[in-house]
Amino acid sequence: MAKKRIYLDWNATAPLLDEARDALVDALSLLGNPSSVHSEGRAARAMVEKARRQVAALVGAEPSHVTFTSCATEAANHVLTPDFRMGRAPLSVARLYVSAIEHPAIREGGRFDRERVTEIPVEASGVVDLKSLETLLASHPQDAGPPLIAIMLVNNETGIIQPVSEASAIVHAHGGLLVVDAVQAAGRIAIDMATLGADFLILSAHKIGGPKGAGALVSRGETLMPVPLIRGGGQEKGHRAGTENVAAIVGFGAAAHWMAEGLDERNAAIGALRDRLEGGMRASAPDVVIHGEAEKRVVNTCFFTLPELKAETGQIAFDLEGLALSAGAACSSGKVGQSHVLTAMGRDAKTGGLRISLGFSTTEDEIERAIEIFMRIAARRKVSGRAA
Ligand code: PLP
Repeated sequence: MAKKRIYLDWNATAPLLDEARDALVDALSLLGNPSSVHSEGRAARAMVEKARRQVAALVGAEPSHVTFTSCATEAANHVLTPDFRMGRAPLSVARLYVSAIEHPAIREGGRFDRERVTEIPVEASGVVDLKSLETLLASHPQDAGPPLIAIMLVNNETGIIQPVSEASAIVHAHGGLLVVDAVQAAGRIAIDMATLGADFLILSAHKIGGPKGAGALVSRGETLMPVPLIRGGGQEKGHRAGTENVAAIVGFGAAAHWMAEGLDERNAAIGALRDRLEGGMRASAPDVVIHGEAEKRVVNTCFFTLPELKAETGQIAFDLEGLALSAGAACSSGKVGQSHVLTAMGRDAKTGGLRISLGFSTTEDEIERAIEIFMRIAARRKVSGRAA
């Protein structure tokens, strides 16, 4: 009998939680359009609003500050724009500053022209360089409009937790606005918008056990908002037109609700498995480099380089052995690009990195088998003297 595959690519997408699936399937039977005033419409509206409360609760926000989108990428394109409104008055943002390790959803700069996007360097450790942020913002021409800054809370490749509240103090001292991509942080660390000092937060349902096809932009208030990306029927209080994907939103809400409970217990279990994995990896290949291991990381992520094993070759080798993991940055074509995160950290990006990411249903047995697979691939690399 073929061995069961091992899925350790939770940062790419998490399995759908039973609770999210049940809520989603039930919501598929809802007939009404949430914008309709009749009973059927109101029933659908009630489900969307419940989900809004659940998503808001996960990040310590007001439900009325949650705008549902189709994914985190859409939320990023919505908020990364030179054009905001403060109430009814237009407000122009002069320049976008993005950390060098942002996900492409952010790094592409949304609705900004390329020449109006500046990169904030990171330190060799993989942590955003706050001194550089301070220097960059000190020379920002304020008369052209405030700066918009995007810094992620948890990096998707290394798992390193970024110093967002410290960054927020710098950003606000320079009159800027801070957008925080919390896609990889949600459900993994406690998030409170006010403590973080984020003006906007970006979330994705499918990274927390919800369905693919739902995301959110969470704002600090309701007065300052980006000019909508999608205009039309005025849904989502005019911030995002188009009939809501009720079932996906309901599934998102159920996943957020589930994730908001039991964080410490979950992290203790996942962290123990990740430590066991990294211990096993080090024992079988002492030359393995685990990126960011000295930094504060989320407990589910292990991003490593095995010298002499190219990431793309490694990814295939692991896949053939029955283990699903990621190699650096994978684009939609499935091709593996060089990791811009390793490049930003000044590390050898040619060999690239492999990312193992765990989740709430990862088992001890899977980790023991993953260690055995790792051992075989590491040994093969040495025997052949070239990449496995
Ligand atoms: N931001 C981060 C850090 C991510 O890891 C991802 C997905 O990989 C995204 C944004 C984009 O999320 P979505 O698939 O919902 O557009």
